[in-house]
Amino acid sequence: MKLWTEQLDSEAIADMRRWREQLHRIAELGYGEYRTAAFLAKVLKELAPDGLIEEIAGTGLVALFRGGRPGPCIAVRAELDALPINETTGLPYASGTPGVMHACGHDGHMAMSLGLAAWLAAHKEELAGSVKLIFQPAEEDGGGGAKMVDWGILKDPVVDFIFALHARPEIKAGQIELDDVPNAYADGFDIRIKGASGHGGYPHIGRDAVVMASQLVMNLQQVVSRRSAPVDPVVLSIGRIQAGTARNVIADEAVLGATIRTRCPDVRRRVFADLERISKETAAAFGGTAELQHFEGYPRVVNDPTLLSRVRELASDLLGEDRVLTATEATMGGDDFGFYLEEAGGVPGCSIRLGVESNASLHTGGFDFGHEALASGTLLLINLIGSF
Ligand SMILES: [Zn+2]
Ligand SMILES: [Zn+2]
Repeated sequence: MKLWTEQLDSEAIADMRRWREQLHRIAELGYGEYRTAAFLAKVLKELAPDGLIEEIAGTGLVALFRGGRPGPCIAVRAELDALPINETTGLPYASGTPGVMHACGHDGHMAMSLGLAAWLAAHKEELAGSVKLIFQPAEEDGGGGAKMVDWGILKDPVVDFIFALHARPEIKAGQIELDDVPNAYADGFDIRIKGASGHGGYPHIGRDAVVMASQLVMNLQQVVSRRSAPVDPVVLSIGRIQAGTARNVIADEAVLGATIRTRCPDVRRRVFADLERISKETAAAFGGTAELQHFEGYPRVVNDPTLLSRVRELASDLLGEDRVLTATEATMGGDDFGFYLEEAGGVPGCSIRLGVESNASLHTGGFDFGHEALASGTLLLINLIGSF
């Protein structure tokens, strides 16, 4: 396999460092990334892509670079949004907005995509096919990826394959990690139980929603322990109960908030059905009713097996075999990259975790993407695109 290892000079790396620092300093929340989008548009316009669409789903952008020969359209996804976290890094380029920071490495993802854009601007004639650089809003909480897909960014030209890099502080810079197993579905539910209020001293006159809720909390444990096969992981956690107004008043309503994590579509459907049946029948047994509201989580990130092998082989040649790690255990975390992939958006893709070695975890005030991984991440993308 031909490798493009000599293609990032010190000037290109310095550009990416500068862009990341500037983006890190801007840090804006999902769907409010106006300055970030303007910054990206300015840099991209100077690189004269073959197409640039702005204001997709509010602040999203797509830049297109056409190669000199026919071939597939490869997309690379980066995210614009920061998190509502107070930065504690003390870095000279720390967020200029108190309470908002790039604690998930999206500043680094954007800088690498800009680095890739600069490389494409200079080398696209050598490439087969085209490259679509997707910059999406609101990955963290708001499903910006779904809105980008609904807008039609996967068409014209049709995206054949899609890749995304994501920072992973637990592994060294220059290493990558590939997921062989999909992450979990994470769904939310509110269960609203209705009874009838009454005087606390005369409970037989009301229908106590607190008792129904208490019974339901215990009954629902059996969805995991008695209804799910031990080899199919299911998490059902009730994290919130709200009921009642006074010590001596029988509550007429109770609302339970639950999160459900499952790994396969059949189990997911069955758990939903169990949840609904047990909730309604438990309430009915005490003369009440239950209504359920479902908050659908992000689709799973399921890496395409053929692309996984391609990435593994190429990264082993490029970075060294010992720097390509495999995660065999499922994570219960989510990423809206799933909206682009086969189960939802229909495109085979691969999410690659990029080592950025940091003592601070993602989503904490001390996290910084750093500079070290920018070059290796961008080189990996360049080589992946060049491999088609
Ligand atoms: Zn995040
Ligand atoms: Zn993230």
